[in-house]
Amino acid sequence: PETASANIGVVGLAVMGSNLARNLASREGNTVAVFNRSPERTRTLVDEHPEAGFIASESYDEFVASLQKPRTAVIMVQAGKGTDAVISELTARFEPGDIIVDGGNANFHDTIRREAEVRSHGLHFVGMGVSGGEEGALNGPSLMPGGTAESYETLGPILRTIAAKAPEDGEPCVTHVGTDGAGHFVKMVHNGIEYADMQLIAEAYDLIRQGTGKSPAEIADIFAAWNTGELESYLIEITAEVLRQVDAATGEPLVDVILDAAGAKGTGAWTVQNALDLGVPTSGIAEAVFARSLSSKAAQREASADLPGPAEAWTVAPEDADAFIEDVRRALYASKIIAYSQGFDEIISGAEQFGWNIDKGEIAKIWRAGCIIRARFLNRIAEAYADDPSLVALVVAPYFRDAIAGAQESWRRVVQIAAGAGIPTPAFSSSLAYYDGLRAKRLPAALIQGQRDFFGAHTYRRIDKDGVFHTLWSGDR
Ligand code: NAP
Repeated sequence: PETASANIGVVGLAVMGSNLARNLASREGNTVAVFNRSPERTRTLVDEHPEAGFIASESYDEFVASLQKPRTAVIMVQAGKGTDAVISELTARFEPGDIIVDGGNANFHDTIRREAEVRSHGLHFVGMGVSGGEEGALNGPSLMPGGTAESYETLGPILRTIAAKAPEDGEPCVTHVGTDGAGHFVKMVHNGIEYADMQLIAEAYDLIRQGTGKSPAEIADIFAAWNTGELESYLIEITAEVLRQVDAATGEPLVDVILDAAGAKGTGAWTVQNALDLGVPTSGIAEAVFARSLSSKAAQREASADLPGPAEAWTVAPEDADAFIEDVRRALYASKIIAYSQGFDEIISGAEQFGWNIDKGEIAKIWRAGCIIRARFLNRIAEAYADDPSLVALVVAPYFRDAIAGAQESWRRVVQIAAGAGIPTPAFSSSLAYYDGLRAKRLPAALIQGQRDFFGAHTYRRIDKDGVFHTLWSGDR
């Protein structure tokens, strides 16, 4: 290109970058520059989508020259070394005030490091979480950008046009999350919540299947019905479709043919690792990550297959099936509230630790469309934080308190039944234990403090006076 004619550029034209570039190009007022390390990808994209009017380049020099100032480039390449490589190419050519956006799945610690490095050259660096996969990138993702407020003035209006729009009020699913790593941090927690949500749904399915003997197609109908109520969400919707799918080769329900070993790409584990570092009990998310790990331990599972379980087989009497299914639905809803409450706790702690000013209600709002955890229920979370921005835990907001009050007896029955029947429900059970832990007037943590003081003179505090105490235990040597 002879002149700088694009208002935004995309580097990295694999599936995510191509779709994001097409999304950008389809919006009024945008001219989009595109570049990919291997020129074949660029040529394919430009040939297949003449309607997009892309300005294509085959070198970084050409690409940078094609951008109007302040230059804005979105990087959509393989996270890690690929991202670092592209950042250094752009940093070498960009000028103060220009904006580099990383839309890949970066670890937020990398984003904090990159932001400082890029800022030292007078440039803006925006780490942006992008959720919604390929389809979202093309038709409207949920976007979680973190960076300077100044860069968001340029970027925000463009991002608002390409983001998904919330069905309730048409608001675009994007907000300035906070500085440096805030966007990628929030995207990480989003993925952690996604793990918990999926595990809870899987546990609900397993209980209904084993308890009632209903077929996957029948259970698909149950999930489809649930999707018309308070559980309405993308994950419940696709669960019904997955359960209804028949395998063409065998005629069996596809879910019965799929190997029961769940994969993971690591963002769930990051959420838990950081929760441990921050001291935030995200037990539901952790159990969901561990449940996937357990499912993939083929040798251990095989060796354990004949370990003893309950003496008697468990089934739900046909006349009790509807009540049981309703109990499971309520247990799912209560556990889901806990998973989100824990996830937002991690956002609050991360914000404190890393100095971000994150508006929790806005985060709930930008997850209402475009992303995997989109759900009707996020409106309730947004309302809870609007009513009380300094809410200490979601679970104590009036709406959620009432929701759990209505569900908790069902929840307890379900966890009891599962334990008695020998059906693993790590996410249901750990969420209930968390809830009861929060509720407890006294916790046995007092005993743990005594033990710690006994063997390590770690000291303890007392309920009746200030100060730090150590007991001369009879076991002291
Ligand atoms: P990808 O398979 O993760 O990465 C392939 C792209 O990275 C290609 O364009 C490749 O260029 C480029 N690349 C790799 N190393 C490079 C280097 N050293 N210098 C320049 N370019 C380099 O692509 P993707 O699936 O489209 O994902 C892109 C990013 O979005 C990733 O960070 C991913 O984690 C994130 N993301 C993905 C999803 C999803 O659903 N797939 C959702 C959200 C976010 P060549 O063509 O030259 O090899």
